[in-house]
Amino acid sequence: STFTTKDVRNTFLNYFEKNQHKQLPSSSLLPHNDPTLLFTNAGMVQFKNQFLGLQESKHKMVTTSQKCVRAGGKHNDLENVGYTARHHTFFEMLGNFSFGGYNSFKRDAIHHAWNLLTKEFNLPPSRLAISVLEGDEESADIWRKEIGLPNEKIMYLGKEDNFWSMGDGPGPCGPCSEIFWDHGPDKLVDGERYLEIWNLVFMQYFRNDKGVLEKLATPCIDTGMGLERMTSVLQSKATNYDIDLFQNLINGVKQQIHSNPTQSALVGKENPERVETALRVVIDHLRSMAFLISDGIIPFNVGRGYVLRKIIRRALSYGKILGFNQPFLYQLVPLLIVEMGDTYPQLQERFKEIQNVIYNEELTFYTAIQRGIPYLEDMIDKKSLNEESLFDLYQTYGLPLEMSEVKAKQNNISINMEQVNKLIEDTRKKSRSTWKSSGSGGSSSNNATVPDQVLRWKNDNIEPDFIGYQS
Ligand code: ATP
Ligand code: MG
Ligand code: MG
Ligand code: MG
Repeated sequence: STFTTKDVRNTFLNYFEKNQHKQLPSSSLLPHNDPTLLFTNAGMVQFKNQFLGLQESKHKMVTTSQKCVRAGGKHNDLENVGYTARHHTFFEMLGNFSFGGYNSFKRDAIHHAWNLLTKEFNLPPSRLAISVLEGDEESADIWRKEIGLPNEKIMYLGKEDNFWSMGDGPGPCGPCSEIFWDHGPDKLVDGERYLEIWNLVFMQYFRNDKGVLEKLATPCIDTGMGLERMTSVLQSKATNYDIDLFQNLINGVKQQIHSNPTQSALVGKENPERVETALRVVIDHLRSMAFLISDGIIPFNVGRGYVLRKIIRRALSYGKILGFNQPFLYQLVPLLIVEMGDTYPQLQERFKEIQNVIYNEELTFYTAIQRGIPYLEDMIDKKSLNEESLFDLYQTYGLPLEMSEVKAKQNNISINMEQVNKLIEDTRKKSRSTWKSSGSGGSSSNNATVPDQVLRWKNDNIEPDFIGYQS
């Protein structure tokens, strides 16, 4: 097909602009003023208050391409990356939204979606299927009678799949109808025939803090289409990682590998499937780390900064499979900018910061590894690697957990990471309480100890109004 990733984005946005939607920019990956959410995980996040009627919207119909990260919280795809064809930690969600702007809210959303897919993207209707929430006959009827879909293309699914909410806490939510691409009965991907490409959410409720659904004054529309998935369909690729954007990034990593003959030879002997997984993880995580840093997040021990650190370390752990033993991710940032810099100028503006933050994190990682790996390998040889000894390695040599975890997995040693994390948490608590008791007799009711304050301060630093990088 002739659609590049950029064409897909533009075709989507232009279609809705043509249909009286205002095109708005993506919001930051740091949800503005929303402590309930780790990172922006959907296009609707920046419009939360408009859905709830708490804020008047200048435009009743809008369209965006939204930066999303799903690496923690309710929607967490971190562990999927490398192993499924369709999941990323960072991806773009294309969306159209109505805050009471559609004449008939479900009908308009469904008709727009169908028009765009079959008239602009020219997908054959016979290859599309849809789902609705069990009991939502209103939506099913629109698909059946107005769009003309045969019954066998309509799946009725339960709340697990077809009732959308942003997170587990209070917030807007509602039933949804999803659109799938049919790979065909004998062309399964990840064992599945249907690929979910677009979710049409009928925002009708506010789930309050007691978990009770309250009807919204104005029913709203929120839709989300995965840009990378849509592109894979239009480029007739089996996985997202085969589209132009990712292939260009993957080729960059391959060039790095092949510029070093020893490394190249080593990787040549690796299991090709493992290499493929590692390449996917590296370039997927490259995108999420660069975008998170460009939105002001820095690696840290807790909170959002910790998720960023985890992403970088996971990339480096898989980088080992590709023979990387010293900083290399930071060198890929310029290539990412070639691919995405014109759509997201912030990447260009913050190029130096992004590179520096990644480089420093890489250095720390490799230093720790150099010290810790011989001990890790020794434990694997002696079959003494378990939760306790893995924790020791972390504690004594700073050997990143992600590294030990990957190594253990490779050697078929099962480690309960929850147990390891609990050991870490316990020592943290212990050290905190020793610190407290050595303080100058502060009252015990005052639990805002200095370490806690430092933690909070560090966390404040990564909130949206952090201006450290500009100043
Ligand atoms: P899946 O069931 O495949 O995990 P989802 O139901 O969690 O997807 P939604 O929350 O409905 O996804 O998000 C709307 C759309 O965003 C999806 O239909 C898909 O096209 C895209 N999408 C969701 N998660 C990812 C991801 N991790 N990587 C890339 N695209 C995604
Ligand atoms: Mg999902
Ligand atoms: Mg789904
Ligand atoms: Mg979905």
